[in-house]
Parts: sequence; structure tokens; C-alpha cells
Amino acid sequence: MLFGYHVSTAGGLHKCFAEAEVLGATAIQIFVGSPQMWATPAVSDKEVEKFKTAWKNSPVKKVLVHSAYLPNPSSHKASLRNLSLKKMKDEAKLAYAIQADGYNFHCGSNQEGENEGIANAIITLNRLAELTNDKWPVKLILENDAGAGNRIGDTIEELGAIWKGLKNKKRFGFTLDTCHLFVSGIDVRTKKDISALLAKFDKLIGLKHLEFIHANDALFPLGSKKDRHANIGKGEIGIEGFKNLLHAGKLKHLPFILETPRTGDPKQDLKDIRALKHLAQN
Ligand SMILES: [Zn+2]
Ligand SMILES: [Zn+2]
Repeated sequence: MLFGYHVSTAGGLHKCFAEAEVLGATAIQIFVGSPQMWATPAVSDKEVEKFKTAWKNSPVKKVLVHSAYLPNPSSHKASLRNLSLKKMKDEAKLAYAIQADGYNFHCGSNQEGENEGIANAIITLNRLAELTNDKWPVKLILENDAGAGNRIGDTIEELGAIWKGLKNKKRFGFTLDTCHLFVSGIDVRTKKDISALLAKFDKLIGLKHLEFIHANDALFPLGSKKDRHANIGKGEIGIEGFKNLLHAGKLKHLPFILETPRTGDPKQDLKDIRALKHLAQN
């Protein structure tokens, strides 16, 4: 199985592979710019080459680009949707340039409610696929949300409704984040919970479209809607929950990427990936 972390690109995109190696990661996630900013930095051809060379010489098999925090493709405000579309296009182009395995984003939120949010997400995402299809056809990956406030895409039903409206389906895929599932109210602790979830996902979307797992324990309880990630085994999902997730046959081919709290000390930070590797083997 492939395991890894969200890693830093401070000092240049290619720097992420050094950190990945220290952490023993075979799948990583990165930001391609500051996640708090609308501007996406220009990346030269030389930097792209550096990235590709560093990747070739690294044990990393999969690279996922995570979008900045700002885009809201579901917003009720047309101006914010347009800004989001532009930002997502810029990041998707860059993700394609570095040959990433996907561009991962959240569906956003809508003050007017679920139906309008879903309808807007469909319009924005279809447009994003159109704008990138000829030259930058990176896989566009929707991540499930933790579900606070008016967030869109926290239930499999909502993701399924968006999926139904997407035209060029081969351009899209999904990430399921275990913490978001859990705090949004979808239990993932027992084998029974997990097979019910996967059966629903398969029915409404299709399991072959599930591309990545974000492996995060949850600091807050089931259904709390509070998105705070915990280290593996230190949260409400717990060791047994992750063991069951790692042994769910239908997830075994997917990269499990950690977005858990880090100390900056590799000795401490290695614990989560070691826990996943250990649980997968036992
Ligand atoms: Zn996530
Ligand atoms: Zn989260």
C-alpha cells in the first residue's frame, strides 16, 4: 500500500521529495502556492524539470496537489464563483505541468442552501473541466467535507448529486477524508460501518472513482461537524477504526495520505505513518 503525508514545498516545489524521504512516504500531497492567497505563483519550466527529476529519484509514487483554502465553487455569489474558477484553473494547470496524479479541492459552501450549492458546484466544476480539457487535463478530485455550517459535499448523497451533474466524468475523481466522514456523522470505526459507506459510495458514484484517502483521526466526536485532525489512534476513530479501514479490501489499492498534526521533529512525525504501515500488516 502507499502511505504518506501532506509535505512542505518551502524553498521550491521539488523540496517536498526530501521531506517525503525522511518520513518514508510513498504518496504525498502538496500545495502549489500559499493556501491563503488568491494569486498562484508562476513556476518556471526549469522548476518543473527540477520537480520531475527529484520525483524520478524518489520512492514517491503518487503526488496529489491540494487546492488553496479560498476557492468556493458552490458560492451563491457569482463574483466569488468566478474568482474560484480562475484560481482552480491556475492551480490545475500547475498540477498538470508537474504531472501530479490529481488536483484535490473542497466543494465549498452556499448560504442559500444545499440545492443551490450543488447546482453551483456542478456549473463551476463542469466549466473547470472544459477550461482545462485541451491542454491541462489533470484529474479533478472532489474531497468530502466535514459539514459545518452550509458546507457542500459532506454526505455521500451530496457528492453523488454533484457527480450526477458532471458531464466529462473521466476528468473527475474523489478523495474521502476519514476525519471529515466521521465528524460529518458517517461512522467509519467498524467493518460494518465501512462496508455500508463503501456500498453507498459505489451505488451513488462508483468505487472506481475513489482515488485517495486522507487518513486523519478526529479530535471531536461523531457528527460534531468540528474539523480538527488528530494523530492516528489519538482521536475518536482510534486504532481499531484505522485497522478496519486499512483492511477494507476495496481501499487497499488507494494511497493513504496523512494530514495529521506535526511537531516538525521527524522522530515524532514518523509515528503516524508507522502506525498505518503496522496496522496494514497486522
Ligand atoms: Zn483532507
Ligand atoms: Zn480537515
